[in-house]
Amino acid sequence: MATIGFIGLGNMGLPMAGNLLKAGHRLQVHDLAAARTAVLAAEGAVVVAGAAEAATGADAVITMLPAGAQVAEIYLGGGGLIEAAAPGTLLIDCSTIDVATARRVAAAAERRGLAMLDAPVSGGMAGAEAATLTFMVGGEPAALEKAQPLLAAMGKAMILAGPPGAGQAAKICNNLILGISMIGVAEAFVLAERLGLDRQKLFDIASKSSGQCWSMTAYCPVPGPVPSSPANRGYRPGFAAQMMLKDLLLAGEAADAAGLDLPLGGAATDTYEAFVKAGQGGLDFSAIVNYIRGDVEPSP
Ligand code: NAD
Repeated sequence: MATIGFIGLGNMGLPMAGNLLKAGHRLQVHDLAAARTAVLAAEGAVVVAGAAEAATGADAVITMLPAGAQVAEIYLGGGGLIEAAAPGTLLIDCSTIDVATARRVAAAAERRGLAMLDAPVSGGMAGAEAATLTFMVGGEPAALEKAQPLLAAMGKAMILAGPPGAGQAAKICNNLILGISMIGVAEAFVLAERLGLDRQKLFDIASKSSGQCWSMTAYCPVPGPVPSSPANRGYRPGFAAQMMLKDLLLAGEAADAAGLDLPLGGAATDTYEAFVKAGQGGLDFSAIVNYIRGDVEPSP
């Protein structure tokens, strides 16, 4: 049984931390939102006031924050995790962030002799709840070996992608596929509506044909065919559209730096940007189907 600091108890972090508690670990949790920490306090976690307190006496600290800015704030500088963690503490950032920040934070950890992994996840809230996440890991193999029992309490697969930052690179590429494929599925279902084709029939056929993909078979953007998908609960996230926009922007920045043009990535970014600007960013990203249908008024 390990003592684990856990920072960021949002849609993903809360169920992930809950699974660590269920596996018998001691948790020291922190989030800006008291309502989130209260849920875990009721399950036996100790609520702490900040990053330094989360690291105190911890064998490992796990973070699940929105983006690079919050990760830099929590890890770097006075009172940050890297300053506060005792030698031997393992640092694991599971947030999806830009590769440059991931490398900067890992280098700062290394300077203090702390092992650090970037370990962004795939599998969504359902995967976080069922402890079936996939971790895409950047860092040293020895650190991953140490992290393995903790990651195994939250997921089913841990793949070492390469050195620090490689986990984030893999995640950004994965979400580029996801952002584009969700729009493709949404366009097909809206076209089916216009053609008078029943959505369940389209699902039954396309999910067994060459159009099948995760965005349809696990996360269908229209209500009905996949009962667990956010479409069946008013598009409550899930994975918020503003998070998808963040990830597509990260892919775009990385592609620009590499001198690569991403025609569909760019179109997907523009589509999500318009959706978020129309005030829909808090909805699940699959709600993009409503924008494609013309149900969302674009902002002027
Ligand atoms: P979220 O917005 O629901 O949760 C983020 C949490 O971090 C919030 O509870 C917020 O209060 C807290 N937080 C923000 N700044 C903080 C700070 N400075 N100190 C302490 N707490 C702070 O986001 P989420 O959906 O849980 O996603 C978290 C990360 O996981 C993101 O990087 C996202 O891209 C990635 N991700 C999400 C999904 C998904 O399906 N939701 C899937 C894979 C990866």
